[in-house]
Amino acid sequence: MKMRLALIPGDGIGPDIVAEAVKVMGAVGTKFGHKFDYSFYLAGGSALDSVGVPLPESTLLGCQDAEAVLLGAVGGPKWDHLAGEQRPEKALLGLRGGLGLFCNLRPALLYEQLSDACPLRKDLIAGGLDIMVVRELTGGIYFGERGRNEHGDTAFDTMAYSIPEIERIARMAFEIAMKRNKKLMSVDKANILETSRLWRSVVNSMASEYPEVEVDHMYVDNAAMQLVRNPRQFDVIVTENMFGDILSDEASMITGSIGMLPSASLRSDSFGMYEPIHGSAPDIAGKDLANPIATILSVAMMLRYTFTLSEEADAIEQAVGKVLDEGWRTGDIMSEGMKQVGTKEMGSLIARNI
Ligand code: NAD
Repeated sequence: MKMRLALIPGDGIGPDIVAEAVKVMGAVGTKFGHKFDYSFYLAGGSALDSVGVPLPESTLLGCQDAEAVLLGAVGGPKWDHLAGEQRPEKALLGLRGGLGLFCNLRPALLYEQLSDACPLRKDLIAGGLDIMVVRELTGGIYFGERGRNEHGDTAFDTMAYSIPEIERIARMAFEIAMKRNKKLMSVDKANILETSRLWRSVVNSMASEYPEVEVDHMYVDNAAMQLVRNPRQFDVIVTENMFGDILSDEASMITGSIGMLPSASLRSDSFGMYEPIHGSAPDIAGKDLANPIATILSVAMMLRYTFTLSEEADAIEQAVGKVLDEGWRTGDIMSEGMKQVGTKEMGSLIARNI
């Protein structure tokens, strides 16, 4: 199979970790007889420095022309003084909006080999953790009408959702639940918010199309509490944009290692943008210290969701597991008795195990 990819290394550790993902794709290509065609694009601070905007039109057009996008990370202290449209992070919103990516998948997976990194009590995570947060990405309060009154002393943000917007994200979540353990938790605030009441009724009306999926509802405040009280009760969580922003960060942090977690932003066709959940880690950029695993696992998600190559995706995930089993660690996940390696060596070890 030939795959046409847009690569956006971005800023900070972005180029370090994307280089390792490319190494692993090379190994996948050799083993399974695939060809990856890469086009590199600028976004974030590096784009500001070269062409004066965080998201050049050529980047958006290049991504639109690709089958999938792999992004490192954007931002850093060099551009922190910039405001509004000039901020590097604007590139992310521009890409999500411009590419129509309404569904964000954030797996929170606790590797048994790294269970010491989990801040929760051992009995709460016995048997590991594997939660998938499905977050609506292009609606709700982050995209609603906002403003200030004429004196500037009162501000408002508006949350709005339409039935089609809820249906398309709920459908994604039901489909993912069907491929996993057929358990779906819809999170809302239906005791207070009208958008949540609509959300809940749409999810309930779709449940009859997926009779095998066990659907439950939970208020967002309770969900935040239950995630640390008994995280193993969750399998797939679906929720709106802002709740998903907060809960997906909480879910990922209970796994204890930000350098390990991938994400996917999808729409209804096979196109997707894949990226690690962490930022550009400017403190360790270019020092061969970054953990490339989140980006490498983002490649696995890309193979699974965009190209439906599950054997190849499994091969990457198993290679990561094997390297961890053998005791290899980057600095961020290092513990006593393990063997510390840099970014490049970690990438090479995983590539060799494909
Ligand atoms: P961060 O995720 O970059 O770093 C937080 C801490 O985790 C740092 O100590 C960092 O060294 C460490 N870390 C992160 N990724 C790591 C990895 N792969 N391996 C080893 N250690 C890792 O978050 P931050 O410090 O809040 O943000 C830094 C910059 O990144 C900011 O400009 C921020 O706006 C940007 N950011 C970008 C994205 C994105 O591109 N998607 C996401 C979050 C933050």
